[in-house]
Amino acid sequence: MVGQSPRGCRRRARRRLASSARYREQRTGIFDFVAAVSPRGNGKSKPRLKIRRVQYIQFLMFDRFGRRDRAWGMRSRRRSDQHRRNHGIGDFMLFISKQGHVDAERVIVKIFPAIENGPMEKVNGIVVHQTGGSTANSAFESYKEAGANGAHFLIDKSGVIYQTASLLRGTSHVGKLKSRCVATKACSPEEFKTAYSMRNKYKKLSRREHKKKFPERYPSNFDSVGIELVGKAISGEGEDAIYEPVTSQQNASLEWLVRELSETLGTSMQEVYRHPDLSYKVKSEARTAKWDR
Ligand SMILES: [Zn+2]
Repeated sequence: MVGQSPRGCRRRARRRLASSARYREQRTGIFDFVAAVSPRGNGKSKPRLKIRRVQYIQFLMFDRFGRRDRAWGMRSRRRSDQHRRNHGIGDFMLFISKQGHVDAERVIVKIFPAIENGPMEKVNGIVVHQTGGSTANSAFESYKEAGANGAHFLIDKSGVIYQTASLLRGTSHVGKLKSRCVATKACSPEEFKTAYSMRNKYKKLSRREHKKKFPERYPSNFDSVGIELVGKAISGEGEDAIYEPVTSQQNASLEWLVRELSETLGTSMQEVYRHPDLSYKVKSEARTAKWDR
């Protein structure tokens, strides 16, 4: 596409798309997708289909900005990153393959099947963590063990982003859930009474929370994407230990990734949490991470 004006390129692409039956199909796709992921949707679609429809949204996004062209056609997504940059088209969405893997220049796909659990039908939130180790490799080593805990992404101190689990699978990164209505002071009197009576029984309370429908509960292992930032506790003990600060490179990558995931998967930016916000964890975990500037 080198040497062509963006405008000419778009015009031709627009003509091509307008005449193609596939494009009409894709326009339909977006509505299906929104119905499937929005809180009001019936949520009955299969995840595989949903992810394919993420790509359809791309058409609409560019459509709205009058920026349709074949740059985000499905043949060569890496080339399309380049193309979008050449033509000054912003990064709005991530490409996600049928396997649930992100295809973007900034993301290195390095999947560890041992941390992948059952299918994740819907993504309702994003949870930010710190690994507790000082290198990416120490986390990777632990991800090799069967049944290991892990998250979908890991950001090294240098800011390099790895995808370590498919977005179509759940991973064990949240653990026991806190009561959302207690935390937000939104419980009915009866619910508060029950939750209060379980206040020291984390397991029981968490089981009870899991039975609730989102957004009455926090996002869990079954419906959230986890992002690990490499970093360990440097002082203190137990739940008062202090984690090392997130590096500026890590934070820049985190901001980018959170925004892209939220836009691509239709997850609200209000549903992005630090791990200790929704589970019983070291209070300083990911405290220095910022994503909503
Ligand atoms: Zn964590």
